[in-house]
Amino acid sequence: MLDDGGLQALREAARLSPDNLPLRRHLADQLLKKGYLAEAEAEFRAALVLAPKDTDVVAGLAEAFVRQSAHGEALAVLEPFLADFHAYPPRMGILAARALLGEGEQGKAAYRYYEAISRDPSLADPELAERLPIPIVPSKSAPAAPPAPAAPAPAYAALAGAPAPSAADSAPGGAEVERSKHTFADVAGMEAVKEALRVKLLLPIQQPELFAAYGKRAGGGVLLYGPPGAGKTHLARAAAGELGASFVNVGLADILDMYVGSSERNLRATFDLARRNRPCVLFFDEVDALAARRSDMRQAHTRQLVNQFLAELDGVDQDANEGVLVLAATNAPWYIDVAFRRPGRFDQLVFVPPPDTAARAAILRILCRDKPLAEMDFDAVARATEHYVGADLKGLVDRAVEVKLQQSISAGRAIPLSTADLLAAAQGTRPSSVREWMATARNYVLHANESGAWDELMPWIKAKW
Ligand code: ADP
Repeated sequence: MLDDGGLQALREAARLSPDNLPLRRHLADQLLKKGYLAEAEAEFRAALVLAPKDTDVVAGLAEAFVRQSAHGEALAVLEPFLADFHAYPPRMGILAARALLGEGEQGKAAYRYYEAISRDPSLADPELAERLPIPIVPSKSAPAAPPAPAAPAPAYAALAGAPAPSAADSAPGGAEVERSKHTFADVAGMEAVKEALRVKLLLPIQQPELFAAYGKRAGGGVLLYGPPGAGKTHLARAAAGELGASFVNVGLADILDMYVGSSERNLRATFDLARRNRPCVLFFDEVDALAARRSDMRQAHTRQLVNQFLAELDGVDQDANEGVLVLAATNAPWYIDVAFRRPGRFDQLVFVPPPDTAARAAILRILCRDKPLAEMDFDAVARATEHYVGADLKGLVDRAVEVKLQQSISAGRAIPLSTADLLAAAQGTRPSSVREWMATARNYVLHANESGAWDELMPWIKAKW
């Protein structure tokens, strides 16, 4: 470790060369090692501006937070990375475990800890493990939770006009029922995707007679896949609004828990929540973590969770899931166990593509519609934002609005947002990871499309990015 003189020299070097990332990272690491936590935090923040996706920097910042007992802040910086269930560095899992423990979330902390050390045993920390609940791997014959009484399945004809759920309803893991304010009119572009959802989810409910006449039942879920931020959650929420159905948005944190059987119980309770509030769109985000290939799993209890998920999708009887439309989203569809793609489960795969220029202009129009606007050339902004996805565009608009708001406060009057403001905001931002996502998709899919499952994706990964 450096002595204080060495540290001082490093500080001086970083001051003279503020954009030198390796130098700043080194300084921040040394500060962390010496326990200068507030200064380390500031250095990691500065490094993060230079390299927002550098996982070592993010982990360093999270550690500085954890050691200052700023557990919420630590989780906020870690969460976007932890969402990529298969790729986050195990060190982040250990830090998340510490932060979760600090927040009193013992079960979730233990889940992260044991997941992380199963990937990198050298990170085992007996002191931390002692403060966590002990995982007991359930035996293969462990009984699943008893079936909960399902609400009587109303006839489809009654579904579309069903009343809103009375009080805010929630499941023990944390999932809640929402009423969606959005419909497909709020989703720009994606005509093919909307059409696929209409046929699969909406028409059987809106026109039950027609479907009955052809002897077809509604049912089976849809798996939305595509790059992060392309609008999968937004689309699912809009589908619920379009149908006048309740919406339950389930994230990993609502399900995963390390206590024996807790994740399974949370999953069951979440399905029951949707069944109590039918018609309901039940949406699972980051579903690859709950539905991973069992052969890839390192821990028996996660296999148990996959089995429970399959059982819930199938329902205890034919009517159990009537009026419950299951949508799921993933950035990594290739990790999903093929058992999930059987009829009645996620039997339809829908690719949610990154928006093209026209779709970007349409998204910008939607994002700006409630704001004071000068004459806008959204097409020009769309042309200047190649490879931006919906989430990036939302970030860009938020940024431009912030600047405008400050100007308006100084001027004492509302100054409308202009094309130049959006273009200026675009200058200061970079698109997230569409190119990287396409490269990853190409690796997984290009030579593994015998079943035709990835037909929709093929032209995209073959294009130049
Ligand atoms: P994903 O679930 O694919 O990661 P999200 O649905 O969270 O992406 O998208 C992030 C945000 O981007 C949404 O909240 C929405 O404001 C905006 N957005 C994305 N796609 C669209 C779209 N097609 N039309 C309008 N807004 C969109």
